[in-house]
Amino acid sequence: MQTVIQYIGTEQGCPLYMKREDLIPYSFGGNKARKALLFFEEIDRGDYDTVVTYGSSHSNHCRVVANMAAARGMQCMIIGPQEVCDETYNSRMMALFGAEIRTVPVQEVHDTIEQTLADLRAAGRKPYFIEGGGHGNIGTEAYVQCYREIAEYERSTGEHFDLIFFASGTGTTHAGLVCGQMIGGDAPRLIGISIARKNPRGRNVVRESIDSYFAANGFSFSDAEIEKSLCFLDDYICAGYGTEDDAVSSVIRYVMKQYGIPLDSTYTGKAFRGMLSYLEENGIHGQKILFIHTGGTPLFFDDLNKI
Ligand SMILES: *Cc1c(COP(=O)(O)O)cnc(C)c1O
Repeated sequence: MQTVIQYIGTEQGCPLYMKREDLIPYSFGGNKARKALLFFEEIDRGDYDTVVTYGSSHSNHCRVVANMAAARGMQCMIIGPQEVCDETYNSRMMALFGAEIRTVPVQEVHDTIEQTLADLRAAGRKPYFIEGGGHGNIGTEAYVQCYREIAEYERSTGEHFDLIFFASGTGTTHAGLVCGQMIGGDAPRLIGISIARKNPRGRNVVRESIDSYFAANGFSFSDAEIEKSLCFLDDYICAGYGTEDDAVSSVIRYVMKQYGIPLDSTYTGKAFRGMLSYLEENGIHGQKILFIHTGGTPLFFDDLNKI
């Protein structure tokens, strides 16, 4: 997977580039597509007939997984929280792909997943479970590869990005980028904008994914090195996960009008707005900036009548 890096314009006196993960050519792309492509490589090597995963009706991850399962004629079962099950473009696509969706109260999700997997196995089925959001070392690996693409772009063009911004949620996108940066021996320059979690929890979740990836792949970096490489900012969460915010809405309208690029209010709009605030608050000028557009295009359409 190789996504384009494009120069989009100057913001706060900084030349701004964007890595278009939203243009991964599968099911509206996004970081969940990059992760799912790797999960399905493993699924295709094994003997599975059902994919089970977790996510709400807004989930980009569930849409992509349901699409890949349908293309293989595999059954896809999605366990979702009752609290977030309103109809969205993603949930309509999950239905289009024939995914079986079970919603339960959020505190019953864990047990329901275990029970579903046990029932499937008892019935002679061969389920493969993907954690919500494509969490786990495979998801992290997808973003180690993404970082490598950025480094290769820099080598081949002679450009160098001083700072790299992106939305940080369940942690594997962020963790993979940090692992890629450290493996490549590059100086710290990644800034993850939290879209929901506060510190220290948000940061710790990313840290756990980093530790797990390094342990599984035989790397041993010191605690201090990892801490230095891990920047997780919780200053731009606004009112929390999935909530609307005037500053974010106005950034979404601006980026669509100015650059013709859709952002959404849950992830990329929040991260883009956080990036602009960070540059301004820290008086950063003339530095070359890369924003990683992590996708979520169907959410842009959900947002369209709210922003
Ligand atoms: C899930 C998601 C994120 C966050 O990715 P994590 O790996 O969970 O941190 C960012 N942007 C979009 C559009 C997403 O769907």
